Order: sequence, then C-alpha cells, then structure tokens
Amino acid sequence: MMIVMKPSATEAEIQSVIDRLESAGARAHPSRGEELTVIGAIGDVEREVHVAELGLEMAPGVDKVIPILKPYKLASTQIKHGGERTVVEIDGRKLGGDHFGMIAGPCTVESREQVLTTARIVKEAGATWFRGGAYKPRTSPYAFQGLGQEGLRLLKEAKAQTGLPIVTELMDARDLEPVLEVADVVQIGARNMQNYPLLSEVGRANIPVLIKRGLSSTLEELLMASEYVLKEGNPNVMLCERGIRTFETAYRFTLDLTAIPVLKELTHLPVVVDPSHAAGRRDLVTPLSLAAAAAGADGIIVEVHPDPEEAVCDGPQQLFADRFPEYLEQVERAAQVAGKVLSPA
Ligand code: PEP
Ligand code: MN
Repeated sequence: MMIVMKPSATEAEIQSVIDRLESAGARAHPSRGEELTVIGAIGDVEREVHVAELGLEMAPGVDKVIPILKPYKLASTQIKHGGERTVVEIDGRKLGGDHFGMIAGPCTVESREQVLTTARIVKEAGATWFRGGAYKPRTSPYAFQGLGQEGLRLLKEAKAQTGLPIVTELMDARDLEPVLEVADVVQIGARNMQNYPLLSEVGRANIPVLIKRGLSSTLEELLMASEYVLKEGNPNVMLCERGIRTFETAYRFTLDLTAIPVLKELTHLPVVVDPSHAAGRRDLVTPLSLAAAAAGADGIIVEVHPDPEEAVCDGPQQLFADRFPEYLEQVERAAQVAGKVLSPA
C-alpha cells in the first residue's frame, strides 16, 4: 500500500499517518520528494488488510491510497513520485540519476604494491569509487580465497592515500564488523544474491549495498533481493548486471544488456554493469562497457590490475592499469550520449 500525501501536508499529518500504519502492524517507509511525501506501508499480506481498514483516504493531509502492484514494493518505480531516482553519494562522489559512477580496481587484493598502484592510477584517471575483494567467492575451495582482514587493511590504506570510497564484498555475516570498518559500499556477490539472512543483515547496517545478479536469476528475483535490504530501512541499494548463464560457451557469461532499460523501467534503484565478469575476456570489456553506458547504465564496475598476467585471479579479464585512462575517456563519452555526467564532475 502506498499513501500519497498532499503537497500541503504538514509534518504532523505525515507523522500521524506513520503512527497509524505502525499501530496496525505495518512498517512505514516515508519517501520525501521535492513536491510531496509518499509513505510506503509494508507488511505481510494479512497486515495489508488491517491497513486497508484504517480509512487513511480520509485522514488529514492524505491525497490518495494506492495499492503497490509489484511484489517488490520499495524497489518499484511506483513508490517514488515524479520519476525520482535513487542516487548513492559518498563524499560527494555519486552514482545514479544523472551521475555516472566508474568503480574500478583489482579483482582481489593481492599485495600492498598492487592495491596502492592501482588505486593511484584509477584515481588520477577520474574513477568514482575503488573496488577490491578481501573475501573472494571461488568455485574451487583450493583456490586463493582472499587476504581477509589483511586485505581490508590494505584497502583502508588505499582510501587514505587516494580518498576513493571503497567497494568490497561481504560473503559471511560473521565478517560484517571488520568489513564495515573499511567499506563505503558492501558488495553482495552473484552467488549470495539469494542469501536472505545476509541481505537482511546488510539492510540493518547503515551502508550502501551493491547487489550482483545471480548467475541464473531473473530480474524479479534480483529486485526481490533488493527488497530484503530496503525493507530493513536501508535505502541505498544498487543493482548490478554481471552476465548470466546461457547456452553460449564462447565467453564466460552473456551480458544481459536488455536488463538495463528494463530494470530502469521497473525500479528507481541505480543499475550498474560489470563487463569484466560477464565477458571473462579483456578484449570484450571496452565494447561491453560502451554498450552498457550508451544503454543508460548508471555505472560500471570494472577490474583493473597493474600486471594482469601475474594476477592471482581473473587475470584474463582485468584491464591493464596503464590503459585505464584511455578506457575511461571512451566510457565517459558513451555515458554522455545517454545524458550522464561522470562523477565527480
Ligand atoms: C567480483 O565482483 O569480485 C565477483 C566475484 O563477481 P560476481 O559475484 O559477479 O561473480
Ligand atoms: Mn573477479
């Protein structure tokens, strides 16, 4: 259920509606737009009935009460009025709306030298945020699993040196505390997209979350995953298309470009594209990035390494750091075609 307040509604009237919703057992999610406030009333199906019986249509300051038709309520475009989009901002560096975010960095944190060199190069080229995994989801339990806490410490140093906000993956809720000390954005990997307790946990933390689409997940499943985070009161959620499993074997995954405009129709949340994991091949990263940016993606998350041939993991898909400035220039132009400006401008 969605309660649309009148533009003239007072703060007291808004609060009174919130109190009445909560007394009926629903959770109120007010969204204060420039012109008016919309309050999402979220509860289980039974509680929706109680809310419907509150007669809020007649309450002072209320314009109308409308059912939210989609199963993902807080993620749906319907909940925002006037086509408002979610913009995630960290230290003035934005992703979403008219702001294009370039998230760049190595697949995994390997060494001090590797992380600091990459961070310096991508910062100088104009990247928005820095990525790097300290905890890595690997298919083989015998493969390198990430440096863990030591990796987090190195990411902290990269931030101290460059000022770039840090995006890093959380795989296990038991690592939440140390990750929160360093991360500016918590990444939930494709393999954890449907780890519902983990999603709820990051929903309760006050930190932006980037959710990657599962290898074989539908867009509705991705949106329902975002709903787990939003439902806990965390509004800063970004979705990431990173390639899905198809019958094609010529490349690692198939980048679903159609997901970009479709997600943007269904949700106000920013849509990020990962061309690195989709392609699995460095030579495909630039064309896929250009296509994604021109199709209206709000940002790109790309792997960059000073010496990819020696990388501990995902070497074949990581861009050479010294080629990154040229890559970013091209992507920036494609984003401009779609009406976006690279942040920070
Ligand atoms: C990553 O971004 O480091 C990663 C492992 O990606 P995904 O979860 O999309 O495979
Ligand atoms: Mn990787």
